[in-house]
This record gives sequence, structure tokens and C-alpha cells, in this order.
Amino acid sequence: MRNEAVPSKVNVGGARNIARKLLKDANAAEIPIYLPKILSYLKTQHDLEVLRFPLGAVDGLLVMIDGYPTIGFNPDVSWVRRRFTIAHEIGHLLLGHVCKGPAFEDNPEAEANQFAAELLMPLSFLKADFKKECDLEKLSEKYIVSKDALCLHLMECRIL
Ligand SMILES: [Zn+2]
Repeated sequence: MRNEAVPSKVNVGGARNIARKLLKDANAAEIPIYLPKILSYLKTQHDLEVLRFPLGAVDGLLVMIDGYPTIGFNPDVSWVRRRFTIAHEIGHLLLGHVCKGPAFEDNPEAEANQFAAELLMPLSFLKADFKKECDLEKLSEKYIVSKDALCLHLMECRIL
């Protein structure tokens, strides 16, 4: 049975694989995932800029400014939410969701969420950690993610 949280056209495996490759390339596969290390790697590879934007109701966005990809994030939300938002926007960048024109073929939001979940909670680490510690509160603190994001990823990966 298909998990209801993931629409059918989403390339879940592809998004997760790109997240895993980024962790490897940026030499950042350590828990908790340290986003500044990944962002400075992406700065060298993609000239990515990251800025605090007063975005109001929006948590984050990815735009091109003078031809350079720029992630704007809302600084007024919690740390775990900011981390997930930035990881999500990195997903849009690496999954090619920018500069493709107005029509997305698949579901870019769900793909970016799969990417972000795998980037912050790599399955290989999570599986091992969940065997040792099944207190979701403690696990979410360890990964610096929300309990909701943790639960969803555990369910989508059929661990929970
Ligand atoms: Zn998005």
C-alpha cells in the first residue's frame, strides 16, 4: 500500500539519493547534520547565497538573483523549522526545480521535502539510532528536527 503522504508521481528515491550524494560530497554525513558546512560547499559549487528575508507567512524560497541561486529564509521561525526549510530549498536547487519555466511536471514540493528529510535524517544513521533509542523526543533533539518531521520520515521509510 502506498503511503498517503507521498503523491504517486514523486521521485522519492531520486530525491533521497541526491541528498545522500550531497552529504558525501560536502563531507557532512555526521549527526546532527551541520548545515553551514553544506551551504559553504554549495557556495563553491553553485555560487549559492543564503539570506535572511522578512518573509511574513512564507518560511523560505529559492530565487535567482543576477543569475545566482539565492535561498531566502524567514528568521522568525524556530530553529528546527529553519533547518528543514533551508534543506527543502537546497532540494529545489539540486533537483532542478529552478529555471525550468512555470510548469513543473511532477510534484516539486513533495520531492524537496523528501530531499530535506533525507538530508537532515539520513536513513542509514536513523535506522541504527532508532534501534538504540526509540524515544522520538530524544531522537528529534539529536537530529535537530521537529518530532513531526521525524515521525513522517520514519513512517515513509517504513521504520515506524
Ligand atoms: Zn518548496
